[in-house]
Amino acid sequence: MPALPPPVLSPRRRTRQIKVGSVGVGSDSPISVQSMTTTLTSDVNATLQQIAELTATGCDIVRVACPSQDDADALPAIAQKSQIPVIADIHFQPKYVFAAIDAGCAAVRVNPGNIRKFDDQVKEIARAAKDRGTSIRIGVNAGSLDKRIMDKYGKATPEALVESAVWEASLFEEHDFHDFKISVKHNDPVVMVRAYELLAEAGDWPLHLGVTEAGPAFQGTIKSSVAFGHLLSKGIGDTIRVSLSAPPVEEVKVGLQILESLNLKPRRLEIVSCPSCGRAQVDVYKLAEEVTAGLEGMEVPLRVAVMGCVVNGPGEAREADLGVASGNGKGQIFVKGEVIKTVPESMIVETLIEEAMRLAEGMEPVEGSEASVSVS
Ligand code: SF4
Repeated sequence: MPALPPPVLSPRRRTRQIKVGSVGVGSDSPISVQSMTTTLTSDVNATLQQIAELTATGCDIVRVACPSQDDADALPAIAQKSQIPVIADIHFQPKYVFAAIDAGCAAVRVNPGNIRKFDDQVKEIARAAKDRGTSIRIGVNAGSLDKRIMDKYGKATPEALVESAVWEASLFEEHDFHDFKISVKHNDPVVMVRAYELLAEAGDWPLHLGVTEAGPAFQGTIKSSVAFGHLLSKGIGDTIRVSLSAPPVEEVKVGLQILESLNLKPRRLEIVSCPSCGRAQVDVYKLAEEVTAGLEGMEVPLRVAVMGCVVNGPGEAREADLGVASGNGKGQIFVKGEVIKTVPESMIVETLIEEAMRLAEGMEPVEGSEASVSVS
């Protein structure tokens, strides 16, 4: 009998389905992970190099900024050579929306709040996007909310963000254009969560989740995990971008980990390690770090337990595919619940890595990951 898929907290909210190039976005598709390049888009080689790194990390869709004509000129080469769909990110200048569509970008992100006379141009944008099969993201952002809405609400409340998004959605729909997703980003996870909940009730649009300007890696990871976790656990969210003041590959790693934690993406390597305490008879932090580093890049769904003593050690180690319970200067190595050997403390890391590689050889890489097992 085929194994049942792992349980999730809620079924996905039903949405219409759109395409961002080859990637489906909506409730019929897996939740995708996005990031954004930090290179000058006009530097085609540097941008493609960063996109390649993002692709190797597991990014599904990449966004590039397009603030100048030089950047717009670079879009055709980037869109053509990128291994994953490229979204052009457009603020202020409507002419770049059309340039990005002409360039063959998979999608265009528009910020209706700061594109000059945006509403008057929706008809043209919808027609051009439809002709080229380009999808759109209506990207409403707390920091650049439409003046009319700001005048009405005074600040970027959840209701204000949603009113702006729903209004823009209605304009596209009036022009018979339906291939768009929506985001309503705010830097405060509480406001952001409420905005997405309201938006999810207002229509069947696929939703792109993001906490904007979430901060440096530690704070941004927590804010995004809390906000996305809340929404995704209710089935809300079809594509995600974790915004960090950190290299974009870190955003992808966090995004993937959030989805894996909620069983919304197959789990790859998972290290189960104890927090250590006064009973620990080994340096658990060092051990867990060394094992994690040694297994980095492994794409198989292997669960490795690294435990500091015999209280929970043998139990957790037994539940995992591979594990160690440490004590008295030694490590009991477990494979599939059985103790296969006991090694001196100095050999624990080496033995775990060796056994992990042996187990990985007989396992299928997780779907969507790099095809081969690579251990650095
Ligand atoms: S496994 Fe042992 S060392 Fe680790 S937290 Fe539990 S009791 Fe402490």
